[in-house]
Amino acid sequence: MPRTPGYPGRVVPVILGMPTVRRSGPPAAPADRPEDPRLLDRFGRVATDLRVSLTDRCNLRCSYCMPPEGLPWLAGDEVLTDAEVVRLVTVAVEHLGVTRVRLTGGEPLLRRGLEAIVRGVKTSRTARGMAPDVALTTNGIGLEHRARSLAEAGLDRVNVSLDSLDRARFARITLRDRLPDVLAGLRAAVAAGLAPVKINAVLLRGVNDDEAVPLLRWALRNGYRLRFIEQMPLEPHGTWRRSDLVTAREILDLLSTEFGLVPVHSSVRGAAPAETWLVERPDGVGGRAEVGIVAAVTRPFCGDCDRTRLTADGQIRTCLFARTETDLRSLLRAGASDAELAETWRVAMWGKQAGHGIGEASFLRPERPMSAIGG
Ligand code: SAM
Ligand code: SF4
Repeated sequence: MPRTPGYPGRVVPVILGMPTVRRSGPPAAPADRPEDPRLLDRFGRVATDLRVSLTDRCNLRCSYCMPPEGLPWLAGDEVLTDAEVVRLVTVAVEHLGVTRVRLTGGEPLLRRGLEAIVRGVKTSRTARGMAPDVALTTNGIGLEHRARSLAEAGLDRVNVSLDSLDRARFARITLRDRLPDVLAGLRAAVAAGLAPVKINAVLLRGVNDDEAVPLLRWALRNGYRLRFIEQMPLEPHGTWRRSDLVTAREILDLLSTEFGLVPVHSSVRGAAPAETWLVERPDGVGGRAEVGIVAAVTRPFCGDCDRTRLTADGQIRTCLFARTETDLRSLLRAGASDAELAETWRVAMWGKQAGHGIGEASFLRPERPMSAIGG
């Protein structure tokens, strides 16, 4: 497939959300930014959670994420090397106050050096002398063979995405007949001690919205923590319609037909985007069971957002829906110091928008689809 050189939304670097010319040093700090080493923005938020996309490629073709034919992939030399990823994440942890790191993609298990990346990131130290918490979001294919080595490398937790327990339906949604591999990966993750294993599920109207209850029943039986994610306008063909969305309200109504749900107060769950409910099990078996819903569209949590993002090609994004990016890779490859990289990151985050604006007349989708940003 022919490759398009970079994505149209990229600018180098971004200052106050405006494109500027390429330069060799870090941008000057905006006059209204207080002197503070952390990743602050103008709305009082502090980013401590870093999402790192390790590749834009994937071995599935989930209909809401990637077209059947794939996408114009990044070229090999555009993608950060393992050592570059570790260097930038270490800057975020040791200079910028990041305490949690999530490795994602595309499909991160396609990175042969994933264990080395995890090991490298785990050697970084926060201001309190702690290693960051490192988690992985994956479709689970191949996890069966790598869960143990990843746990040994220091991986703390894993989220596995799974939208259907029906093999034919799974194949219809993802265009690949790989459900048995995902289930084997889940079992291996538990055996390797990567618990609690979380499951991410996207419900699609008329496709798998009848699986809300069966998915939760199955998750409870197996000790997995299930989170439903509202479908966001990040699919590549621009077919998303708000009216098609299976909303958090609908999901709650579906679950309530079978389960008692007690909301967990936000002061307990913190900045985590998933609203959470304790589930009273119909079988009466004890133990903590919960279900989450990431209602990014109908109940946006932008005011509490604590995230910053790094794409596989080394671009900082302040938000999934940001329309601009800041190029750290060029600075890194031009020999920038840790202090320069950190300052560039601070300036980028100061320009973070207040919210994603889905539903507003001015809303524009980001140029990159979800798989190229890092979900
Ligand atoms: N390949 C890995 C996986 O599927 O877990 C990691 C990357 S994937 C982009 C991360 C998460 O984003 C998955 O749970 C997936 O279901 C979710 N996702 C992808 N496209 C989405 C969309 N348009 N709306 C909501 N969630 C989406
Ligand atoms: Fe691949 Fe994950 Fe996107 Fe599915 S959601 S196509 S597994 S990147």
